[in-house]
Amino acid sequence: MSALLPAVRSFLSAPKQLLIDGEWVDAKDGRTFATINPSTEEVLVQVAQASSVDVDRAVVAARTAFEAGSPWSKMTPRDRSHLLWRIGDLIEAHADEFAQLEALDNGKRVEAARDGDIATAAELFRYFAGWATKMEGTSIPMSVPGREFHAYTRREPVGVVAGIVPWNFPLLMACFKIVPAITAGNTVILKPAEQTPLTALRLGQLLLDAGLPAGVVNVLPGFGDTGAALVDHPGVDKVAFTGSTEVGKKIAAGASANLKKVSLELGGKAPNIIFDDADIDAAIAGAVLGGYFNEGQCCVNGSRLYVQRGVFDQVVEGVAAAARAIKVGDGFDPASNMGPLVSQEQFDKVLGYIRGAVADGATLNAGSADAAGERGFFVAPTLITGVTEQMAVQTDEIFGPVVTAIPFDTEDEVVAAANNTVYGLAAGVWTNNIGRAHRVGARLRAGTVWLNTWHADDVTLPRGGFKQSGWGRELGSFGLDDYTELKTVIAELR
Ligand code: NAD
Repeated sequence: MSALLPAVRSFLSAPKQLLIDGEWVDAKDGRTFATINPSTEEVLVQVAQASSVDVDRAVVAARTAFEAGSPWSKMTPRDRSHLLWRIGDLIEAHADEFAQLEALDNGKRVEAARDGDIATAAELFRYFAGWATKMEGTSIPMSVPGREFHAYTRREPVGVVAGIVPWNFPLLMACFKIVPAITAGNTVILKPAEQTPLTALRLGQLLLDAGLPAGVVNVLPGFGDTGAALVDHPGVDKVAFTGSTEVGKKIAAGASANLKKVSLELGGKAPNIIFDDADIDAAIAGAVLGGYFNEGQCCVNGSRLYVQRGVFDQVVEGVAAAARAIKVGDGFDPASNMGPLVSQEQFDKVLGYIRGAVADGATLNAGSADAAGERGFFVAPTLITGVTEQMAVQTDEIFGPVVTAIPFDTEDEVVAAANNTVYGLAAGVWTNNIGRAHRVGARLRAGTVWLNTWHADDVTLPRGGFKQSGWGRELGSFGLDDYTELKTVIAELR
């Protein structure tokens, strides 16, 4: 087992507080909750639990930090750019510490956290550092006979942004909200997931150390009621949410009271289509990565495998063999290839789906309907065949290491099956026929389509969902649109 860093020990040695207006404070009502290590089921530390009263305090702080005349409003785009770059460097300098905290709180492997989540978070700050000085408007001609005008657009921040995020990539999801928001000059109240508040709190201190003015980013750990208080608050101008489709619908409804802006990154059930003319070894490796990455707790994982009939058995055997070879264990054990699920609730939910499929007559080609450890929330990577399109394991987002495989015969048949879902987050196609790859890719109703690859990604690329997988797009050059208001200015030249 890797040893805990002194900085991590020190961080966990005292209860964690809320970050409001640059100060670490207890919840007004003194409430706390425990955050758990999913590998051991032991309590890591107590964390302050924000109520609606704390939400009020944070909204005042964020509003004050946003208003004209504040230190934040006086920072030039270049100042913001330099600050964002500095934060990226600081995250990188503390990468091992962040990675250990993430592995303890979420369960994922330390290396996966460091090389994936934490490295990408640092890169996100650097990518958006470039955009801070490039938020340009346009000058637009007007045609009014006999009069002269100068009309132009400005991109202005929306105001106070509430970022509400899930537990699967805790630091990264927090950064997906904070970074574009502050690049555009907004202020933020972040509500991390109740299962994984630690790295967001560590980031809060790092932002202060980097010189971000007080109140620009506030961090309020809590449960769904804390998130709902932010959604209901008239002082919040925008909600940026990543999480389940079920909660996304509640947020859209709640935000309608004062028509605050809403962006939603929601659930998925991505189809991964393998044609018989594909590079089968590459497709099997892609199906394994696409199915089991991040313990299966990834919204764009390819959980529905469709394989052309002639290569179905070969692909199923290949994926099942690779799944069986994955060693499930503590994220601090360098020998582990996969950690536990995040919580007891997630563990019960995932095993429930596997048991349901078995009860409905499906076959487990790899994995098990039982726990993969004595304690901790371990589930073995599972491959299921013999499923129908109507089974819950096929229709619902499970969010665990569970892949189903169904054979198909024709292109039209598989496109119809792939699109037969309320979700539209990601999809993938494996074929050596270039025409087919792009033709099928165009017919798939999803925000991201991978052709002969899976999980290839960059902070430069926009992401988001068709259908019930969300509203809006995050990251890339489109990623600032949802964090800015477009103002049109018309001046008459007299
Ligand atoms: P969740 O919807 O249960 O919770 C997400 C966040 O919302 C948490 O912080 C939670 O406390 C908060 N919340 C819960 N009820 C709320 C309410 N009524 N009002 C306001 N906030 C509330 O999701 P989860 O289980 O934490 O995460 C898994 C889900 O996230 C999956 O559906 C997954 O697909 C989705 N996800 C999507 C993306 C994407 O980019 N589209 C990325 C990661 C995860």
